[in-house]
Amino acid sequence: MSGILVFLEQRDGMVRQASIDLWNRLQEPAAADAERQPLSGIIAGPASTVGIETVLSGSCTIYHVSSDLLGLYQPEQYTQTVAELFERSGCSSLVFADTALSRDLAPRLSVRLGDSLLSGCSWPSAIGAGTCSRSVYSGSVVASFAAETGRRIYTISSQGSSAVPRKEGAIVIIPVDDLSGDTTRASAVVQMIAMTAARPDVSEAGIVVAGGRGMGSAEAFAMLDELAGLLGGAVGASRAVVDQGWRPHSEQIGQTGKTVAPRLYLACGISGSVQHLAGTGGAGTLAAINSDRHAPIYDVADFGIVGDVHTVIPKLIKEVREFLKKK
Ligand SMILES: Cc1cc2nc3c(=O)[nH]c(=O)nc-3n(C[C@H](O)[C@H](O)[C@H](O)COP(=O)(O)OP(=O)(O)OC[C@H]3O[C@@H](n4cnc5c(N)ncnc54)[C@H](O)[C@@H]3O)c2cc1C
Repeated sequence: MSGILVFLEQRDGMVRQASIDLWNRLQEPAAADAERQPLSGIIAGPASTVGIETVLSGSCTIYHVSSDLLGLYQPEQYTQTVAELFERSGCSSLVFADTALSRDLAPRLSVRLGDSLLSGCSWPSAIGAGTCSRSVYSGSVVASFAAETGRRIYTISSQGSSAVPRKEGAIVIIPVDDLSGDTTRASAVVQMIAMTAARPDVSEAGIVVAGGRGMGSAEAFAMLDELAGLLGGAVGASRAVVDQGWRPHSEQIGQTGKTVAPRLYLACGISGSVQHLAGTGGAGTLAAINSDRHAPIYDVADFGIVGDVHTVIPKLIKEVREFLKKK
C-alpha cells in the first residue's frame, strides 16, 4: 500500500488555487516523500478539466467523478464518494489543502475509514512517515503529531509555503461513474450564497491591504478599499477594528479570524499582536505602515514606512495610479 491521493477541490466547476498549489508543491524535489510515492488526484463534481494539464505539474492520473450531485459540497455524498475512491486507489495517504471544505470532510472520512487524521500540517510534511508538525498557541509552539494507522489522511496548510511554478508533464483524466454513491442522504445543500462578489475573499487574495485601530475610523477604510481595488486585492482588518464595528468579521485576520497567504500583506495602523500575526504567517512579503517605530509589527515586517497612515496611504494611492497609467 503506497501512493498519495490528492483531493483537488472544485468550486463553481473550477479546481481551486489552494489545491493546485498543493499538487504542484507535492511534485517538487523538496517533497521527498511524494517523490518516492506515486501521486494521483481526485476531482468530485462537474468540474471543467479542459486545460487542467496547463496548471497541474507532472505526469499523473486524475479520477474525475463528475456526478451533478457533487456540484455543491454535500457532506454525505462527498464522504461516500471520496472514501470509496480512496479504498479503491490502494493509496496510503489522502491529502487535502487546508480549506473550510476539507476541515469538514477530512474528519468525516477519518471516522468512516478508521484512518488517522493529521490536520493543519505545516509544509513540508513527512507524508510518507505519517508525521506532521503544526504551530499551536498563536504560533508560540510547534507541536508534532504521529499517525497511529498505516493509512492516513492529511490536511496541509499553505502557511509558510510559496506557490511553485508548474512542471511539464501529461495529466490523464479517468472518468469514474461506477461508484455506489450515498443512498441515505439525510440532508442536502441546495444553494451557496457568496457574501461578497466584487472582491476576492481575504483568505484567497494575492494581495491583502489590512487596517488596524491606527486607521482611526470606519471612514478611513475608504482609502484601503481604494488601494486594494487598484491592486486587485482584498481588505483585511484586525480584531480591534472588527470589535469597533468598522469592518465585518469576514475580514478579520488572526487567531480568531482568517488565515491569509498573499504574495503581499500591507499592514496599516496595525500593532502586530501575536494573535493578529497568527493569521499572517503565510504572507510572502509583509510591509507595514505605522507611526510608532517601536511597534512589534516591525519585528516581522520585510519593509516598513514609519508614518501616519493618513499621509502615507494617499501618497501610495497616487503612486500606484501613476504606475498603472504608465503600464
Ligand atoms: C483570545 C484572543 C484572540 C484574539 N484574536 C485576534 C485576531 O484574530 N486578530 C487580531 O487582529 N487580534 C486578535 N486579538 C486582539 C489582539 O490581542 C490585539 O488587541 C489586536 O490585534 C490589536 O489590533 P490593532 O493592531 O488594530 O490595534 P492596536 O494594538 O491598538 O494598534 C494600533 C497601531 O496603530 C498605530 N497607529 C496609531 N495611529 C496611527 C496612525 N495615524 N498612522 C499609523 N499608525 C498608527 C499604533 O502605533 C499601533 O501600533 C485577540 C486577542 C485575544 C485575547
